[in-house]
Amino acid sequence: MSNSVVVIKVGSSLISQGSLENSVFFKRLAKCIQKFRGNNNKVVLVSSGAISYGMKKRAIEKKPKNIKQLQSLSAVGQIGLINAYQKNFDKFGLEVAQVLLSHSDFKSETKSYNIKSSINNLLRWGITPIINENDSVSTEEIERGDNDQLSAKLANLINSKTLIIYTDQKGLYSKDPRTNKDAVLIDEVCLKEISNQKIILGESGKLGRGGMKTKLSAMKIFLINNQRTGYILSGHERDLFISLQNQKKRTRLKLSRLKSF
Ligand code: GLU
Repeated sequence: MSNSVVVIKVGSSLISQGSLENSVFFKRLAKCIQKFRGNNNKVVLVSSGAISYGMKKRAIEKKPKNIKQLQSLSAVGQIGLINAYQKNFDKFGLEVAQVLLSHSDFKSETKSYNIKSSINNLLRWGITPIINENDSVSTEEIERGDNDQLSAKLANLINSKTLIIYTDQKGLYSKDPRTNKDAVLIDEVCLKEISNQKIILGESGKLGRGGMKTKLSAMKIFLINNQRTGYILSGHERDLFISLQNQKKRTRLKLSRLKSF
């Protein structure tokens, strides 16, 4: 994998571990992005975590159900989230920029063109764009997806061949591993085979809204041709970049089985 744009999506549950100001996960993520860049790839990051950071800021333990409250918490948290990225990534020589998007933006040709050209320009400048849903104007992700779908639509728009979703699970399991001891980690899967394999999808975690269902829906949006590969990887690995190459530690999704498998 080199000379291409990689879209990496990270969820709220990974972001909210420990303190944002000095986060182990951010360090791992920064190192991973450095490695991609070292291989001549450009990276666009899609990051949730605004609501969870807003909750920390306002000392709210249980995630509210009320959408208006979630929107406001996101507005509170987004500043801290992006500042934390800036502080943590700066130590690794990574410059960042914030881009807030909503699903309806992708329906407008003009807006899509604008998104694409501003992101491409940031990438040309060597900057890592950090995308989140603009929760004050649109609620699709806070209602359903934890940015999974947004990352897929964005990856499509910028013609990325690789979408990586880091999650608090090890990857895609045959059943929900939290409630089924016999659940096995699926290494490689063709999207069309998912229903045949009777994969039972778990619910989302306490902080995010995603769960495997929305990750797979996102992969369905993204895997529109055979040149693309989607990964669902554990965000708990020490070396996030190596886990991408390590067969036993990742779920790789393709649209259909290729000879090279
Ligand atoms: N945009 C939201 C955030 O950054 C998505 C995550 C969620 O639904 O909890 O927090």
